[in-house]
Amino acid sequence: MAKYVYTFGNGKADGKADMKNLLGGKGANLAEMNLIGVPVPPGFTITTEVCTIYNQQGHDAAVNAIKKEVEAAVAQIEELTGTSFGSKDNPCLVSVRSGARVSMPGMMDTVLNLGLNDLAVQGIGKKSGNEWFAWDSYRRFVQMYGDVVLGMKPESKEDIDPFEAIMEDLKEEKGIELDTDFSISDLKLLVIRFKEAVLKVTGKSFPDDPWEQLWGAVSAVFDSWMTSRAIYYRKINGIPEEWGTAVNVQAMVFGNMGNSSATGVAFTRDAGTGEDIFNGEYLINAQGEDVVAGTRTPQQISLEGSKRWAELASVSEEERKNNYPSLEETMPALYKELMEVQEKLENHYKDMQDLEFTIQDGKLWLLQTRNGKRTGAAMVKIAVDMLEQGMIDEKTALMRIEANKLDELLHPVFDTEALKSTHVLAKGLPASPGAATGQIVFFADEASTYENSILVRIETSPEDLEGMNIARGILTARGGMTSHAAVVARGMGKCCVSGAGSVKIDYKTRVMTIGDQKFKEGDWISLNGSTGEVYEGKVQTMNPDLGGDFGKVMDWASNFTRMSVRTNADTPNDAQVARNFGAQGIGLCRTEHMFFEGERIKAMREMILSSTIEGREKALAKLLPYQREDFEGIFEAMAGYGVTVRLLDPPLHEFVPHQQATQKELAKEMGISLEAVKSKISDLEEFNPMLGHRGCRLGITYPEITAMQARAIIEAALNLKAKGIDARPEIMVPLVGTVAELKNQADVIRGTIEKVFEERGDKIDYLLGTMIEIPRAALTADHVAAEADFFSFGTNDLTQMTLGYSRDDAGKFLPDYLDRGILKQDPFQVLDQTGVGQLVQMGVEKGRSVKPKLKVGICGEHGGEPSSVEFCDGVGLDYVSCSPYRVPIARVAAAQANIKHS
Ligand code: PEP
Ligand code: MG
Repeated sequence: MAKYVYTFGNGKADGKADMKNLLGGKGANLAEMNLIGVPVPPGFTITTEVCTIYNQQGHDAAVNAIKKEVEAAVAQIEELTGTSFGSKDNPCLVSVRSGARVSMPGMMDTVLNLGLNDLAVQGIGKKSGNEWFAWDSYRRFVQMYGDVVLGMKPESKEDIDPFEAIMEDLKEEKGIELDTDFSISDLKLLVIRFKEAVLKVTGKSFPDDPWEQLWGAVSAVFDSWMTSRAIYYRKINGIPEEWGTAVNVQAMVFGNMGNSSATGVAFTRDAGTGEDIFNGEYLINAQGEDVVAGTRTPQQISLEGSKRWAELASVSEEERKNNYPSLEETMPALYKELMEVQEKLENHYKDMQDLEFTIQDGKLWLLQTRNGKRTGAAMVKIAVDMLEQGMIDEKTALMRIEANKLDELLHPVFDTEALKSTHVLAKGLPASPGAATGQIVFFADEASTYENSILVRIETSPEDLEGMNIARGILTARGGMTSHAAVVARGMGKCCVSGAGSVKIDYKTRVMTIGDQKFKEGDWISLNGSTGEVYEGKVQTMNPDLGGDFGKVMDWASNFTRMSVRTNADTPNDAQVARNFGAQGIGLCRTEHMFFEGERIKAMREMILSSTIEGREKALAKLLPYQREDFEGIFEAMAGYGVTVRLLDPPLHEFVPHQQATQKELAKEMGISLEAVKSKISDLEEFNPMLGHRGCRLGITYPEITAMQARAIIEAALNLKAKGIDARPEIMVPLVGTVAELKNQADVIRGTIEKVFEERGDKIDYLLGTMIEIPRAALTADHVAAEADFFSFGTNDLTQMTLGYSRDDAGKFLPDYLDRGILKQDPFQVLDQTGVGQLVQMGVEKGRSVKPKLKVGICGEHGGEPSSVEFCDGVGLDYVSCSPYRVPIARVAAAQANIKHS
């Protein structure tokens, strides 16, 4: 028969720490604490499997499955505590709490003091010698149970809690102010009134039978797994619905039994900074929720912490000692015991612990321990310290790093204090992390109007690049995580919030409207690129501290990685930034901006408008020196490492002017009629440019563009060689779907390069490869490989074309798909391993079947996303390439993947 209930108590337990999947984090650790001799009130855990039965087969099936086991487990609590359920003399009271595999703080429900009724309350009164306490516990129980299990909630969001309303009325009748001012008979009256309200609202009497109470509470915990806030929390944290929650039922201990009782929460190290300092908060004569509810000021556990707190809160030493003394001062012996327990727990779990404890009448009990949540900075410091303290080895330390969290360390951040008083105006996608404060500009060419500007656009285009670079941050109303703005901003390490749908922009009046608030050019706003939040006004920022610990983590990554990490960079500056973060080469240098900036766009337009090959070549000759110089800068910044340069990819339509005035200017410059200009531009228009005349299709129609770029690349490399600089060019042909396309372009490239070698009387090694971003290229990779020295998976386009979702329009339906569980993750952010991943794997296998040494990498946005990096390691890629600020993340993820796979 399946086992669904696991008991613990008195130093014994059915479960242990590594059974989190079945017992949830809390249940597994309660069992483990028992086994290592930490004092824990006895209890039992109903497994997560029961939650699945409950959700799939319903309440009765779940109760039937566990009834006998639960009855036996309750009997065990009764035996260990010498109490009995519902007894008038010595009642057994329990808490009922949720506990998923990973903690979901505050998301699910808890019921305390369960088992109280009109008889049991007398027993508690006698046992504690404190009738007031007994009745106060009783009224809290009816209130909590009424809310959590019976659904007695405020009727609308403006209403107050129905139980609070009853308490307020009674306070008014009695002329008292505080909950603690109620007399015993007031508390009795409250219980009566609470129960009357329950009967009136729900049509049923409040359950007096402890068993009925218990089953009600267990069901409520299972129900809380499917509340909208729990679903939302799971969604943003990537927790699968199938996991379910466990239920923990545990004998109550009371921190509110008088002045020798207390309750608190503590961390074995500082969760904000990572410092190795035991810290936490507690309250004397209180129950758990009082510490977090903010109704009383919690006191610090250690004397040192208490003194630090007093200084920050401007509380004098005198006042601190009298009103807010530390546990170390008020209960020195218990403080010492707690110190020992926290050391034991940290040494046992070998990680920073977050604990909950209660002191009941001079006896310490632990109610929970778990690996504590921490900031990115604390994560790094704790891993480094624990390694240096000999608690863990280098591999374990590295595996402790949550790669994505490193991001927090790399960008300017908002001052956490300052954030507390800000107003969130809108929310978009956290497209590129960091913090930015500045004055609104609506046009890229006006970005330099203010020293600190925020570029606010409906969407951005390559034309906006310079302005994006100047602005402190970028906010767009449209576009997803791989929209132009997002990709470019991440490349620059620039804070960007994209796709903020509630932001309405009127370029004409230069006004941004959010709800009923209007913002003009020059108004201050702030962007949080890590959360997607847009704030009103200026918010103070601070610079990240990339101290020595960060460097140590990067060294560990180097020690364990198999793949190398390259960067996607289009400028020497980006290349340098990435190199400083440890990038070993450029996996994708997009060249579109080399046709845009300054004077270049004129030559480019001249080329596009020209109807003869001679005319186009003449225009391209003007671009050649610019591009050569660009390449020299990039090759130099990445000297000694491969630089993959992708030939021109976007459709030509993106390079022509769309406003009448600019078109007129162009006509004048070119000495042709406005009509001729307009007609050429309308020729370039496409129904579906993403599937249109772009990528290698451009180079096939206009081989002179390919030839110019190949020449610029090789001449730049030769120029550097002449200066003794080790340039390693790799030329990449985009959007290949058949080997014939690649062959066509390879002939042009090789032909041009041979000419250059001859002209210069010098040679240089180079590679010629292709992107695999069209499904057909992956399916026929054994053919394509014949013409390629390397493959680079362009998983942005490959995702777009495999799923048939437009990269630029998917924002319209992806949120619905994610909400409804049709997709688990945004496939443009996290590689769709089951679908697109098959094409990647097939591409690698087929390619290497004809060229075993074929170099293979990835340069789509997925190259910097940890789970996708792990996949890439698994299918044998040689490198991943990502935007500069994701390089440290990819390095850690690559090393972790190698550890897992080997
Ligand atoms: C890709 O398609 O994955 C890619 C890297 O190219 P781009 O994003 O420029 O289309
Ligand atoms: Mg592409």
